[in-house]
Amino acid sequence: MTRKLFVTTALPYANAAFHIGHMMEYIQADTWVRFQRMRGHEVQFVCADDAHGAPIMIAADKAGLSPQDFVAQIAAGRARYLDGFHIGFDNWHSTDAPENHELARRIYLALRENRLIETRTIEQFFDPEKGMFLPDRFIKGECPKCGSPDQYGDNCEVCGAVYAPTDLKNPYSALSGATPVLKSSEHFFFRLSDPRCVEFLEAWTQDGRLQPEVANKVREWFTRDDAGRVALNDWDISRDAPYFGIEIPGAPGKYFYVWLDAPVGYLASLKNRLGQLGLDMDAYLAQPEVEQIHFIGKDIVTFHTLFWPAMLKFSGRKTPDRIYVHGHLTVSGAKMSKSRGTGISPLRYLELGLNAEWLRYYIAAKLNARVEDLDFNPDDFAARVNADLVGKYINIASRAAGFIGKRFGGRLSADVGVEGRIVLDALRAHAETIATLYEEREFGKALREVMLLADKVNEYVDAHKPWEIAKQAGQDAALHDVCSTCIEAFRLLTLYLKPVLPALAAQVEGFLRIAPLQWADAQRAMGAHTIGTYQHLMQRVDPKLLDALFEPPADAAPPPPALPGGEALAAEIGIADFAKVDLRIAKIVAAERVEGSVKLLRLTLDAGEGRDPEGRPRLRNVFSGIAGAFKPEDLVGRHTVLVANLAPRKMKFGVSEGMVLAASHADEKAAPGLYLLEPGAGAVPGLRVR
Ligand SMILES: [Zn+2]
Repeated sequence: MTRKLFVTTALPYANAAFHIGHMMEYIQADTWVRFQRMRGHEVQFVCADDAHGAPIMIAADKAGLSPQDFVAQIAAGRARYLDGFHIGFDNWHSTDAPENHELARRIYLALRENRLIETRTIEQFFDPEKGMFLPDRFIKGECPKCGSPDQYGDNCEVCGAVYAPTDLKNPYSALSGATPVLKSSEHFFFRLSDPRCVEFLEAWTQDGRLQPEVANKVREWFTRDDAGRVALNDWDISRDAPYFGIEIPGAPGKYFYVWLDAPVGYLASLKNRLGQLGLDMDAYLAQPEVEQIHFIGKDIVTFHTLFWPAMLKFSGRKTPDRIYVHGHLTVSGAKMSKSRGTGISPLRYLELGLNAEWLRYYIAAKLNARVEDLDFNPDDFAARVNADLVGKYINIASRAAGFIGKRFGGRLSADVGVEGRIVLDALRAHAETIATLYEEREFGKALREVMLLADKVNEYVDAHKPWEIAKQAGQDAALHDVCSTCIEAFRLLTLYLKPVLPALAAQVEGFLRIAPLQWADAQRAMGAHTIGTYQHLMQRVDPKLLDALFEPPADAAPPPPALPGGEALAAEIGIADFAKVDLRIAKIVAAERVEGSVKLLRLTLDAGEGRDPEGRPRLRNVFSGIAGAFKPEDLVGRHTVLVANLAPRKMKFGVSEGMVLAASHADEKAAPGLYLLEPGAGAVPGLRVR
């Protein structure tokens, strides 16, 4: 029976270009979709840009663009990546498209009708200069637990504490620097705690549609307390103007929180796609055989196993049939992070001329159906591609095709003989095993099966040595059979690899002069068919190119590798960048504790800046977060290095006019120690460090 599959990948946030982690998800989903199409199933494979929210609004403002133009710029760059890695989405849309505005409103109204929306007044930080409520990531201050300065409103990067923005000490707006004020506002909540939601979700998440480890994790959220209650919190789904998003019907100045309308983008993109085909989305989704499948990363499981199915269910819509969760991609064992960047740039990979299907193969070979992280290791990458694809698979065609062309006019033998048939039957016998592995997203296992089959074919070639038969008189029929067996085997291996290597398969189809391979073609034979001229199909990986992949490009420097045991280097800078920082020798003439701060010392510094009109030395006042490591009296009289041209910063305790330099470990908790920089003997205040 023909399956009807509605397949999506997670919507990428439209504030940045794709990183390699996005490509991993797209390669996984695209491989699965291509496999389904080869099986004759109908697929709608769609995605969209997640365009709304405060971070995009703020980034657009900084760039001097409207949010729409900002998002359009990001969207315009998507095709280079998707086409470059042969990702065959049927549609790429945007959550700011009219379909999404309309669908999000309709879903909301249905939820409201169902008494699952309520309003509550909450207190939030408000930036009085910018005139807006501040998202958590745009409030900074001192960590309430360890006192570290400049921590975000949701968690401390120094001690790891998690807290509410209102817990921060000395909070300030990261947008304007202003001290935020608490202001109350009416917010809209989706009542996830409603017994109807709890009952539905508890059953929905445990009925086998989720991977076992995901279902187990989700089950923890349904733990009951002594009163038999489940602690599912209601979900705050509104944000106040100014906000880039969808205005809530009947609530001027209130917008849907970006995570409310983001998954609705799956439907909006589908609706747009079906519209292009002249089809109606509601009618399409009403077909009981349609399977709705979302590929996502493990970081957004909550949204896809609680909020999204509940929104759909209680607005009277179809809920997802499968949520396929994958792990994250690491590069050479290091976790990718947004702040340190993404390790390797997919665009740079393409610009260096690296073959997109090498990456598809490598990633597919490491993927399985579980929620496991996957590591990109350049040595492993080169070894696998060279050994498997070039050494085992391509080699089969290159060893046989020349003889077929030169000795037999390109014509394959009608019947390859007993031994050839044994080899080919063995290959055909694996068609369903390999199909099952693709279906189950066990791509690594599927490719291992294919490579074992390639090994068998190579053993057959080595046993029959066509290059020796070719020299013997009267052995034409034997040579013809052996080489025809190889070419037919190559066709079968290509068929099995096609979901992963679509462009290579298309080249092979051209060389073999056959119609696009479908899975059912595994049980057919080419017979006495005339093939085209063999041209080399794939190069070996040049390790030099892989080295270049990790070099920072001139324009946008990707993060460099981490130093052994230390923290990653900052992005490369030129000498001109360094020269902007004016470092001076300074003498600490006074040091004292700051009342109300455990972290700060007030330093008075002589940086050799002459005397004021009254004849007193010009001195600097600097607040430094070194109180944990030094007693004030031990610092007086010491020389150190001052960042002399740092803009003065107004702090709660006064104005800080620069910064003194000290060395520390990246993780101060794991490796305490703070080392003040001191110049060699003889250095006097005012000397420039260069
Ligand atoms: Zn902290």
